[in-house]
Amino acid sequence: MLRKRKDFYQSMLELRAKEPASSYRYDIAEPTSDVLLMAPHGGAIESGTAEIARMIAGSDFKLFAFIGQRRDAKGRLSGNFSRLHVTSEHYDDPDARRIAAGADIVVAIHGTGLPEAHVGGLDVELAGKIQNALRGAKFPVATKAAPHLAATRKQNICNLNASKRGVQIELPRAMRSREARDQVAKIILSAMTEQLKAQSNYASTASN
Ligand SMILES: [Zn+2]
Repeated sequence: MLRKRKDFYQSMLELRAKEPASSYRYDIAEPTSDVLLMAPHGGAIESGTAEIARMIAGSDFKLFAFIGQRRDAKGRLSGNFSRLHVTSEHYDDPDARRIAAGADIVVAIHGTGLPEAHVGGLDVELAGKIQNALRGAKFPVATKAAPHLAATRKQNICNLNASKRGVQIELPRAMRSREARDQVAKIILSAMTEQLKAQSNYASTASN
């Protein structure tokens, strides 16, 4: 989620330099694939997002998840969003950038406090397919992503793939709940599979 208030750290490099290493971990998988699922604000930063990204990725797609696990002196999860949220436009994590640059299709999963999903990013074709699929399953989805959630800036981590256009999905709490996660992941995956099939059909037609 992008926010108007300033993040605590202005970049992931700053976060990594200043934040204790115990505050976070990574969940990264790099099978041979042109597709990457991201959860830049996973763990306790935007709950459920890393789980959904992992479910969609399965063992076929690449995965990059940054997992917030910051705890207070009493061992309770604390300050994850306020300290570890670095906006997608400042997301200079070296592994995130490297893996995104090598992928054709990038889908970044985020969490929003709004009551409906917002699907954005510069890959408008895939974004449209995902939006329609979620709406078809009766989930609440904004007709047009709110400007601060639309991921139209080229420096947004979701748009730093090989084609310079990715997808950003902002999911409300209800769609990230344990009850809904599985279905949401399946719907997004089916829309992505449809898009991949359309692209490979086009590629084989074009090479004939
Ligand atoms: Zn986010």
